[in-house]
Amino acid sequence: MSKKRKVAVLGATGTVGQRFIQLLDNHPWFEVTALTGSQRTIGGKFKDGCRWVIPGDMPAWAGEMIVQETSTNLDADIVFSALHSGIAKEVEPELAKAGFNVFSNASSYRMTEDVPLLIPEVNADHAHLVTHQRAVRGWDGCIVTNCNCTSTGFTVVLKPLLDAFGIKNIIMTSMQAISGAGYPGLAALDYVDNIVPLISGEEPKMNREPQKMLGKLVDNKIEHVDFNVSAHCNRVPVTDGHTVCASIQFEKSATPEEVKEVLRNYRGHDVVRNLPISPETVIEVREEADRPQPRRDRDAGDGMTTVVGRIREDEVFDIKMVIMSHNTFKGAAGGSMQNAELLVEMGLA
Ligand code: NAP
Repeated sequence: MSKKRKVAVLGATGTVGQRFIQLLDNHPWFEVTALTGSQRTIGGKFKDGCRWVIPGDMPAWAGEMIVQETSTNLDADIVFSALHSGIAKEVEPELAKAGFNVFSNASSYRMTEDVPLLIPEVNADHAHLVTHQRAVRGWDGCIVTNCNCTSTGFTVVLKPLLDAFGIKNIIMTSMQAISGAGYPGLAALDYVDNIVPLISGEEPKMNREPQKMLGKLVDNKIEHVDFNVSAHCNRVPVTDGHTVCASIQFEKSATPEEVKEVLRNYRGHDVVRNLPISPETVIEVREEADRPQPRRDRDAGDGMTTVVGRIREDEVFDIKMVIMSHNTFKGAAGGSMQNAELLVEMGLA
């Protein structure tokens, strides 16, 4: 069956929406047929309503498109949702019911039992849950979600560690980029020369989203894994790229060299490797004493590779390390697009 699909981007003018448009420019399978926005931009040309804030130019085809209302009248098979959770909660089920395959960045349905929360390299098999979702809800379409942008790189790294050594407890501190708050996001007076030690609602997500993604799909249910995460989430004056410092207690003992080897050798599920957006290297392990750094490492694998460094013994737990992942590529639009490519490849969308 052909892999060509018509796609719409919901909330196309925002930070994540712009990243979608950039990634969809010349995509081998997906053709953009609709862009949506709020009342502020509906009816006008995209280039007139969108303040393009990401590096590179707005693709000319996107600039000329007319921004539409988010409704079931869209001419598309696949819908990428870059909507805020309140709006997503209302419209995503309506779209799925109307036959659209919805790939959402919003938090509204991430923890819903019959909704896959996917990172293809971690849990591609959870994609099968959409068959159950469609049957139970009587939908022709579906909802598939990706996790919050700090859980992403963190969970990619935890997957091979969990398989090799088992995990008991983690203490992690995030340093999250300002683009994670959307556009215009925070006022400059809040973040320049400053650190904001609160990202509302973020810390509990770190203690439930990885456990769902790392869980097992058994009889149409995901059995969450059981380990504890104590999270401190901070906003720092970095434009893109979320950094996590993590101390991990394993079930089995592990040396820093064993951890490095397990991470370096991690390839993820076979089906994921040949997807158009999948990176060559899932996890890059850096040996320099002062890496990863967001400005230097966030573009690894075109923003789809997770970069890890400073892997060393922890004085309280077993091992500590620094994890870096691009929040609007792998952590948002890129991750969502990889999910859509995965479902198309598996014949599920
Ligand atoms: P953002 O920059 O604030 O953009 C929000 C978008 O939603 C804008 O395009 C806005 O359109 C549109 N919008 C507002 N009301 C709407 C409505 N009623 N109907 C249709 N569109 C509407 O936000 P963002 O950072 O891109 O985040 C989008 C979603 O992705 C959120 O759920 C967020 O939690 C999630 N997420 C973000 C990141 C990140 O790193 N930024 C990472 C992971 C997940 P107008 O411009 O036309 O008003």
